[in-house]
Amino acid sequence: MENCLFCKIASGEIPSKKEYESDNILVFHDITPQAPFHVLIIPKVHISSMNQIGDLNPDIIKEIFLTIPKLAQQNGISEKGYRLVNNCGDFGGQTVQHIHFHMLGGRHMQWPPG
Ligand code: AMP
Ligand code: ZN
Repeated sequence: MENCLFCKIASGEIPSKKEYESDNILVFHDITPQAPFHVLIIPKVHISSMNQIGDLNPDIIKEIFLTIPKLAQQNGISEKGYRLVNNCGDFGGQTVQHIHFHMLGGRHMQWPPG
């Protein structure tokens, strides 16, 4: 997908601070971290938002979710906990139109999110 920031990050055209990479997914640190640990988990293939997750190979959906507790373990945040966020669309606060899951940890989160 042309002119998609996260496609360019996935291909390496735009650099990122990578936390984990496989053939199908990339985990990289958010450029404006909102917590001591803040990464974004993306499929490398372009899917614009949660509304289109049905277009994503179920094996990749599974890989994304199974990677999360591994990242938590590796970064020492399993026990205290963390937050997983998907912003979808305008009202959801989505600013990059390539599906991504925020994983935030290392501090106590507030609720409601505002
Ligand atoms: P959202 O608002 O849910 O669409 O999240 C987009 C996220 O991408 C924001 O938290 C941004 O800080 C983050 N972001 C934007 N540009 C970059 C970049 N070049 N590298 C890493 N994260 C980025
Ligand atoms: Zn994309």
